[in-house]
Amino acid sequence: MTSTSARTNGRLAGVLLVVCGLYVMVVTPFLPAAPDAHPRVLLSLAAVAAAIGLAFWLVPWDRWPRWATLLPVPVSLTLIAAHGWLIGADGYRFGPLFMVVFAWIGNTQPRGSSVAMSPLLVVAYGVPALFGPQHAALAIGGAIYTIPICLLLGETVAWVSYQNRRAVRAEHQTAEFLRAAFDNASIGSVAIDLDGRIIQANRVLEQVLGYGQGELLGLEILDLVHADDQQSCRVHGRRLLSGAATTMRAERRFHRRDGSLIWVDLSASMTVDQAGQPTSMVAQIQDVTERRAYESNLTYQALHDDLTGLPNRVLLLDRVRGALARAGDQPVSVALLYLDLDNFKYVNDSHGHAAGDALLVDIAQRLSSVIREGDTLVRLGGDEFVIFCDEVHDGQVDALSGRIHGALTSGFELAGSRFVATVSIGIVVIPATDASADVLLRDADTALYEAKRRGRARSQLFTPELKARTTSRVQTETDLRGALIRHELQLWYQPEVELATGDTVGAEALLRWDRGAQGIALPGDFIDIAEETGLIVTIGEWAVREACHAAARWLAAGSRLRISVNLSSRQLSSPGLVSSVRDALAASRLPSSLLCLEVTESVLIDDAEAALGVLRELKACGVKLALDDFGTGYSSMSYLRQYPFDALKIDRSFISDLDATTEDTALVTAIVDMAEALGLETVAEGVERADQLEVVTALGCTLAQGFLLDRPMPEDQFARRYAPVRTAGPSTVDVPTRAVLA
Ligand code: C2E
Ligand code: MG
Ligand code: MG
Repeated sequence: MTSTSARTNGRLAGVLLVVCGLYVMVVTPFLPAAPDAHPRVLLSLAAVAAAIGLAFWLVPWDRWPRWATLLPVPVSLTLIAAHGWLIGADGYRFGPLFMVVFAWIGNTQPRGSSVAMSPLLVVAYGVPALFGPQHAALAIGGAIYTIPICLLLGETVAWVSYQNRRAVRAEHQTAEFLRAAFDNASIGSVAIDLDGRIIQANRVLEQVLGYGQGELLGLEILDLVHADDQQSCRVHGRRLLSGAATTMRAERRFHRRDGSLIWVDLSASMTVDQAGQPTSMVAQIQDVTERRAYESNLTYQALHDDLTGLPNRVLLLDRVRGALARAGDQPVSVALLYLDLDNFKYVNDSHGHAAGDALLVDIAQRLSSVIREGDTLVRLGGDEFVIFCDEVHDGQVDALSGRIHGALTSGFELAGSRFVATVSIGIVVIPATDASADVLLRDADTALYEAKRRGRARSQLFTPELKARTTSRVQTETDLRGALIRHELQLWYQPEVELATGDTVGAEALLRWDRGAQGIALPGDFIDIAEETGLIVTIGEWAVREACHAAARWLAAGSRLRISVNLSSRQLSSPGLVSSVRDALAASRLPSSLLCLEVTESVLIDDAEAALGVLRELKACGVKLALDDFGTGYSSMSYLRQYPFDALKIDRSFISDLDATTEDTALVTAIVDMAEALGLETVAEGVERADQLEVVTALGCTLAQGFLLDRPMPEDQFARRYAPVRTAGPSTVDVPTRAVLA
């Protein structure tokens, strides 16, 4: 029994006693009294009953044990007995009191209590019978109807109240369960009334929002929501209220008590009454700030470059697509600048990766400072950056590219020394309507390639012609790879003639590509591509092998001719060069002194130290070394002293103008004198006319090579002309060179 029902029942008992007492007091004077009745005593007894009733009213029933609720029973039984005895009248007067008392017993006591109490009732009615037959008759008359009614009433009420108690207990348990679930939930829970005020909030929510116990009650829930999220919360709330939605779930920002913001996962639903009308809103609130931070960190990492913090390719593509979508059909131009640092590999190789990284970070900062607001600067990876401009007007891209080159001119501090970094830039500017992320990147890359090809440290604007050229280069590259497999490459030979004797003492092997219907391609058409793609290494090894075999065959035929083979800088920096030369000599059995390798000055400029090492190794194999195209590069005297060259090939450009300008004559004279002083042979390249031959001979050049003497030709032809099978003696056959020199 709960304290509330104990109080109610106790008071009810009090009221009954008061009412019955007053009732007896009021009706007794008007009823006919029995012969030996004592109405005054009965009145006093009724007054005592009313007084006891009042006392019952005041008893703090909720603090009394359950048995106390039975107290009215002896009181009422005493009243019945006293009434029967004192008045000698029928028992009807106190009859309602018994019924009410048994109804009350049924209400407060377990079922069967009324039956258990019935002997007391019999006793109460039976006591007056002791005082005489008249009393006995009255008692029996009262008991006959009162006792069954009381029992029936008491047990019926007991049964009904038992059912009620059970229902109430079940309801109470449910409520208790819900309360416990609400209070002890591991996430914040809140109940809000229809005006949006908090009517209940659990401990977790108080902790999440930084409030003390009970402090959230009465607050407007929307006041806790971040201003930017309030409207959407309002919309959700209205939908729930109208029944348009049964639940809502969203992540929103909430203010904590200390003013800080947190992200919460909010899910809410309405509670409704039996008629289906909304009564309140219940929401679960979970702090997801950490998870959001983690997620946004992951997103950031996925879209940015670790080293520089700049956006990466993924974000670039996203921004480009976004900008193009925004531009729609409007006549705006977009630009993409593709940047690649020149010689970055050198920084990494010579100063280490940490220095390389520091340089990239520094460069990223400088680039950030020169772009316009709204431009996107991206690190694509390695030393490649991209700047995307979503709207450009005349001159803006030029200005930007100028600022980029300018930003780098002041140089960088690199491992304690000054380093000047330059950058090559490929630029594409096109109407947004024609653009796509792929096209922009591809065309800018094409332009960048051209910028690199044209000497680096420059910007190159993409043009359709550039694309055509690139396409044909790509085609050439593909074809060239096939050419190797299909044996379309050949070596042609051009004689080198000793000027003093007129003898053909050697030949230069020159690469040719038999392209079938397209004719014979010259190195100028494909050697660059072979170098860029690295194919030159394979081609070069093949050339050395092939040339050695040819010279060995000529030697076997009786002509001791020195074979000169060109090496590209790419070959010189490839690790297998020296061994491939050794292998070629071994396989052909050509004496190493009959092989001469030609390199150009560019080889020495790119990486002088490494080149010197390789050249010395080659020299150690016994082969001759020649510096090709001398005079076109930097022509530093120091090369000639430091490097183990045997011959200088004076570039054709000096020879062609020998007669026209005295300067060239003076230059060639100086070269020949210097070479003589250093003990080097000189070869005059590109001798086309007799007068040129005369001059170079007069100047003291050792050898000459040129169309005048003979053109490059296929091996069989060369062999027939300069190395026919014979037994002994120098090459004195009847060949054009002899005729020229004669
Ligand atoms: P180079 O080594 O200076 O070869 C001499 C070039 O001058 C050859 O051009 C030759 O045909 C040309 N020539 C010779 N005499 C005359 C003349 O009197 N007048 C004119 N106008 N030209 C003359 P080619 O064969 O087109 O070769 C061009 C360049 O290609 C070569 O210049 C060489 O640097 C490179 N090259 C040729 N074959 C190879 C090779 O197997 N490997 C490598 N790495 N480069 C090669
Ligand atoms: Mg050459
Ligand atoms: Mg040359």
